[in-house]
Formats: sequence, structure tokens, C-alpha cells
Amino acid sequence: MTKGPARSFPRLAFGGKVLGSGNIALMPSSTVLLSEHGSLFGSPQPYFFKLHHLKKQLSGSELHGRGGAAFPLSRKLAGYEPYRGKLIVVANGSEGEYLSRKDEQLIARHPHLVLDGLSILGSALDAKAGYVHVKASKTSSQRILQEALLERAGLDPFRIEISLTASEVGYVAGSESAVVSAINHQGGLPIYLPDRPMVRGVKKRPTLIANVETLAHLALLARFGSDWFSSIGSAGDSGTRLLTVSLPNRSSGVVEVVAGTEFSEIFEVLGVSRSQISCGLLGGYFGQLVDIDKLWSLRASHAFLKEAGFSFGAGVVALADGCPVAEISAILEYLAGESAGQCGPCYMGLPELAKTWRELVSGRVNSNSLSRIADLCDQISGRGGCAMPDGAVLLARTALSRFRPELLSHQSASCNYPGLSSSLVPPVTALAGR
Ligand code: SF4
Repeated sequence: MTKGPARSFPRLAFGGKVLGSGNIALMPSSTVLLSEHGSLFGSPQPYFFKLHHLKKQLSGSELHGRGGAAFPLSRKLAGYEPYRGKLIVVANGSEGEYLSRKDEQLIARHPHLVLDGLSILGSALDAKAGYVHVKASKTSSQRILQEALLERAGLDPFRIEISLTASEVGYVAGSESAVVSAINHQGGLPIYLPDRPMVRGVKKRPTLIANVETLAHLALLARFGSDWFSSIGSAGDSGTRLLTVSLPNRSSGVVEVVAGTEFSEIFEVLGVSRSQISCGLLGGYFGQLVDIDKLWSLRASHAFLKEAGFSFGAGVVALADGCPVAEISAILEYLAGESAGQCGPCYMGLPELAKTWRELVSGRVNSNSLSRIADLCDQISGRGGCAMPDGAVLLARTALSRFRPELLSHQSASCNYPGLSSSLVPPVTALAGR
């Protein structure tokens, strides 16, 4: 086994600015070429990983998927074992979540770690081919990956291609069925598949789709072993993870954090004053809006968040300074506009939910408004062809309980916050940190 790097943190943000007590690092953006990649991490040769070897490495780790579902990679690998020799493997870097930038920055920094992870996973399962799936609009990601594939020509155990989302598909482009549809040139929308991609996906073959950050962690875990991987972190969630943090002024940055780091420390080193924040969106648009007291008490740990009823989702923490009721309204409007127009509960239900919530914000309500929202959530829930409507329902339902006083204020046409504009919109500038 290759000897691990002398420093165990930062890992993915190696070379980036380390902040605070040393558990948080800003992601640098310059690309690590193959020659530097080898000297930084050591060669993963042989790229041809045996399944039993990889299973052993994974069994001692707690590597959960970083794309949103947080499924343990060891269990995913076991589920795909029966399909050995027939599989297509896909590194999903399409990052449909509007507020997330972590996958894009990871590809910009470490394309070879992503490709190593895909190669290692694919070789263990004797895959036939691999794809790295990215947004059609992210031309820099495509160029970096093309150059990386040229650098490593002949090293990977199977052919790897770059595939693109359909340009007109937005938020839902990263869902598994949309990824399969795009690679199969079937439009790139989420589609109903009689069989899951595990059985019949790309080119009618069983298809394993893993998030690019998951694969980058796998590339390090396979090199250095589970003891190294778990040498930092907290109970139930070892290692590190990438988070996209955005502020009310719409600046954002990607940080790598050691699992278990307090969110309050992350906010402090990024220069966030608690007095300027009203609430935060945890997990992204499929996540939950969280009040400030709760948000400051949480830890960046999968196990801790699960226990508290939250999740990392797409690894987004977006801070806002406006009225939480208005913030939810803006997100529901956005999601309603992102419907792929295929399922009634989605393309008719979400606009109705967004409209009812908008009326609440503007004070054009009656005493039935909150129960009308709850009814709409019941009607939409579980009835979409993909997870998008359920994400919107989770956001609305949890806000109904978490922000009850604010909602009741709006129901009586008053609001205690200074503004109704939303700051939970695409970030545009880079965070500097302290
Ligand atoms: S639920 Fe909405 S986004 Fe998902 S497949 Fe149906 S119409 Fe498309």
C-alpha cells in the first residue's frame, strides 16, 4: 500500500488556505496535473483493483455518497457485485443543485482523483466503460477533463468518455434517470424507467452512478486505507467533506471540513456575523430551511445531522438575512419553474404550491392558507416521476412547523423582518475567509 500523505488535512483542498483551528480549508482552484498528482498522492497503480481488496478498504470506512442520498459506498458496491463484467460506471459531476459549486471546483482542482476513483471502482467490478457526466454549460470542466484524459491515455482499465447534460435541462439534470437519458441521447430529462439503472441503464447495461466527490474520496481511501481515511473525523462520519457555503451578499466558496466540525466555527472563520443572519438553507433546495439558533448548534457530521433530522443533501449551506417565509417562497417559485413538465403533480402542483406561498408572503391570505399549503403538500408528495416534487414538499412542510410564528405573522399581514427579497440565489463572487 502507498504511504499516506504526511498531512492528513486538507485532503481534497490540499494547498488551499487552512482556516481557524485547522479543520476547515478553502478549496484552491488551480488544476493538479498528472505529474504533480502522482507526487502528491502517489500512484494508485495498479489501477486494476481487485473487488476483494476494495471491499476490504471500504468495510473499515464510513464513506457515504456525497451526491445527496448519502448511501454507504460499501453497500452500493455490494449491491452491484452481481453485475460484475457487464457494468457501465458513471462519475456524476452534473451538479444540478443551483447553489452547489463543490463538484465543479473538485473537477477543476483534482480531475485525476475523480478519474482514479472511477477507474478503481470500475476495475473492481470489471466495468466495460466509464463516463464523467458534467453540465453542458461548464465548458471549463469539460476542457480540464479532456486534458486529464489525454494525460492519462492508456492508464485506465477501460475507455472513459465525457458526457454532457442536455443544455435545456436544469435542476433535475443530475438525477440518475436523467443522467442515463442524457448519455443514451434520449433528451436528458428524468424519465420513468421500468428497471432501475442498476439493472438497465446506459446502453441497456447495468449502470453504477456515483458522485464525483465520492469517487475522489474513494481514490484516496483505496490508496491509503481505511485507517488513514478514518484517522480524522467524528463517530459515525469519518474523513472530510466538501461544502459550498454562500452568504447573504451572494458570495460563495467551497470548503473542505473535517467531519464533526461545528457549523459555528465554519461561519466564524468565513467572517459571518450571526447578527446578520436570519436563517440558513441546509442541504440545498431539497433540504431544509433552519432557524439561526438551530443552525449554529449543528455539526458538519452525517451522523449528527441525521440524529437531528437534517442531512447534507448536495453539500450546500446557504445563509440568508431575509424573511424565512419569503426565502421559502423564492425557492418554491424556482422549483416550480424547473419542472420538466412530465408529471401532473409536479407541473401543476408545484406552481399552485408556489402561488399559495407567494400569496402568504404578500399578505393576500385567509385563515385557510396554511391548511391549503399542507393539503397541497399531501397531494404532491410521492407522485412525481423523480424526487424533485418531494424535495419541494420537504422544504415546505418543514417550514410549516419550523417557522410557525413567522407564518402566523404573515397570515395576519405582518412581517417582522426588514425585507422580503431572497438571497438564496446563485452565488457570484468568491469568499476570502479569515
Ligand atoms: S417529477 Fe417533475 S421534474 Fe421529475 S420527472 Fe416528473 S415532471 Fe419531471
